[in-house]
Formats: sequence, C-alpha cells, structure tokens
Amino acid sequence: MISEKVISLVNNGSAIRAMFEEGANMAREFGKENVYDYSLGNPSVPAPKEVNESIIKEVQDENSVVLHGYMNNAGYPDVRKAIADHLNKKFDTNFTEKNILMTVGAAGGLNVILKTLLNPGDEVLTFAPYFVEYNNYVANFDGIIKPVKTDEATFMPDPEKLRAAITPKTKALIINNPNNPTGAVYSEEVIKQVAQVLCEKEKEYATSIYLIADEPYRELAYDGVDVPYLTKYYHNTVVGYSYSKSLSLPGERIGYLVMPDELDDADMIIAGAGVANRVLGFVNAPSLMQKVIARSLDCVTEVGIYDKNRKFLYESLTKLGFECTKPEGAFYLWMKAPGGDDVAFSNAAKKYHLLIVAGKGFAGPGWVRLAYCVDYDMIVRSIPAFEKLAAEYGLVSK
Ligand code: PLP
Repeated sequence: MISEKVISLVNNGSAIRAMFEEGANMAREFGKENVYDYSLGNPSVPAPKEVNESIIKEVQDENSVVLHGYMNNAGYPDVRKAIADHLNKKFDTNFTEKNILMTVGAAGGLNVILKTLLNPGDEVLTFAPYFVEYNNYVANFDGIIKPVKTDEATFMPDPEKLRAAITPKTKALIINNPNNPTGAVYSEEVIKQVAQVLCEKEKEYATSIYLIADEPYRELAYDGVDVPYLTKYYHNTVVGYSYSKSLSLPGERIGYLVMPDELDDADMIIAGAGVANRVLGFVNAPSLMQKVIARSLDCVTEVGIYDKNRKFLYESLTKLGFECTKPEGAFYLWMKAPGGDDVAFSNAAKKYHLLIVAGKGFAGPGWVRLAYCVDYDMIVRSIPAFEKLAAEYGLVSK
C-alpha cells in the first residue's frame, strides 16, 4: 500500500492538468484547430534566441566535466553573484552571492523555503484566489494553509482581513504578484499596507512572520504598471523567482531564492535553505541552465505578444457580455461565471470545445480562469464558440 497522503493527492488530482489531458483527447477527436485550450499556463512565446545560443555556446566552449558536475548546493558562486549584481542595479538593493540560492524553478524555491521555515502546525497565509499548488507545498511540511480573501471587486488584499487572520502560529504569508489566477498586480500602496500589518503583528506576538514573494510573473506586467520589489518594503521578505515564464523555460526548472541579510535569523535561513535544497533531493538547480541564466540576465520574453492576446480576449469577451477583470499582469484572464456556478459553466464551455478552468480550484468559486498564453489565431478562432456560450447563458452583447 502506498502512503495515504499520496492516495489522497492521486484522488484529488490537479483539475488543470486533467483539463489539459482532456484538451489533448479532444484535439485528437475534433482536430487541434477546433479545440480552444485556455487551461494551462505554459508559455506560448518561444525562449529568446540568445538563450538558445547560450545553451549551445556553454556546451561547445566549457569543460564538460565542470559544466555538468555537482557544485555547491546553493549553485555556482559566479552565477549567484551575477544575479545579485543584476538585482542591485535594477532595484537598488545590496545583495551578494550569499543571499542567492539557485532553485528548481519557483516550485522548488517555495518548497525549499517552506521546509526551512515550517514546524508542523505552523500557519501559512495566502491571498485568495491563489495558485492551488500552495496547498501541497505547505502540506509537504505539515504546515496549515489559511487563505485570506481579497476584495471581491478588485482582488486586492484587504489589510483588515489579513490582520484578522494572523495568529501566534502564523509563520509566513505567500504573496504572488502579478497574480495567478486573477491577473491583478498589487500596487506599492497595497504592499505598504500589508507590510504594516505584518510589522504590527510581529510586535504584538513577539515573533517573526516571513513574507514569501512568489514572482514567476514579475516581468509580465502591462501598460507600464509597476510591480514593487518586496524586500524594500518589509524586512522579513524572501523572494522566489523563476525563469519559467519570463524566459519561457518552464521545463528547464530554473529559478532562485533571494534571502536578504535583513531577515531575522538570516544566516540560519541561508544555511538551512542550502541543506533543504539537498535533502529534498534537488541537490542543486540544473547546472547548464544556471550558466545560461548568467549569460541571459538582460533577456526577457516578448511581453507584447501576451499583451496583444490580453487586449483582444478581454475586449472580445466583454463585448459578448461576459464580466471580466482586466488583467494587469501574468497571462491569465479572470472571468465571472454567468449564473454563478463556475464548475457548471466550465463544463458547458466544453460543449463548444472551450477549455477554461473553474475558479473553485483556486479558492475563487463563481469565477473561471483563462490562460491566454496561446496562439493569437486560436483566440480569434475561439470567439464564435464564446458567442454560442454567451447565447446559452442569455448574455447581451455590448
Ligand atoms: N507560482 C505560481 C503562482 C505559478 O503560477 C507557478 C506556475 O505556474 C509556479 C509558482 C511554479 O513555477 P515554476 O514552473 O517556476 O516552478
């Protein structure tokens, strides 16, 4: 018999992954061009040419034994230094290589920092709706996830709700900005309010509450909106970054954690995270990709492609009478399920070969998520299907 925890994970498998599989089956049955798959956050923009060239260059020019070998659990010192310097230039911070730990994507980074921080029963807050995998990451270390509802109209954190949710057992707050699934970007003002509540509560309970900034979508922000760098607003901030979306490298599994000197118990956290990286079985982040990242620090994906998708999809759907939150970042559109039942709505959408994910799985019932990291042409082809769906729900075009 396998672990009971894993049995429950198998039985409650990811709704997004299930829908992705369903999409693949539908594509076989009806033809790929007749299925409109908005289920998965898999980047549709190719990795920058420079990244691919760096991969070739590393393999051709570097000593193979060194390039593919083990290194410090935290990653290559020169790569970590290059990242620290890059961040310092960009955000006016003062990190050194000591503050950077290379990780197996954002997911690896979150697991490393949660393993480092959590004792069984510790509470981890996050603003809902949220990326469902946090439930698993927190449960991996016997922590307790406590979602804190955001404002129902704007999906911005509500400082009063946050204040009410913090207890002496609160160890961390995970903030995902820009946000999956809502596409919201939390402004400087909102971040300052959150930081103030955390500071107050740290004092009240004489404890440390860590802010974990989950930032795989940092570079995907539209209309010039600013994404605040959280270490500048709160002393106990750990940043988890990833190149999965910013360089379209999700399968390569590369990212990093920033653990500033200002953290309470900084040295122990940095040492602990190195050990956590090892004992979780990551050992170190992929070596070739570390080197490639050091060469690609000024590269970013073509955000304009996602922006074009965002504008067209938002405008088309609102014209059809759907109520949507205009995304400011990431590549997700958060849409109200007409009739209020998100599961029924996403099932109804399947009739028209539209794959959209029910919000229930993101602790956001009544809404659905559309991942618009897809081909623009697919969006154009999908609009007649949305028209039929709108007609079924009696929506009135604007
Ligand atoms: N955090 C959020 C909010 C995400 O949406 C994702 C992936 O979709 C991750 C973390 C995991 O990212 P990575 O592929 O870098 O592990």
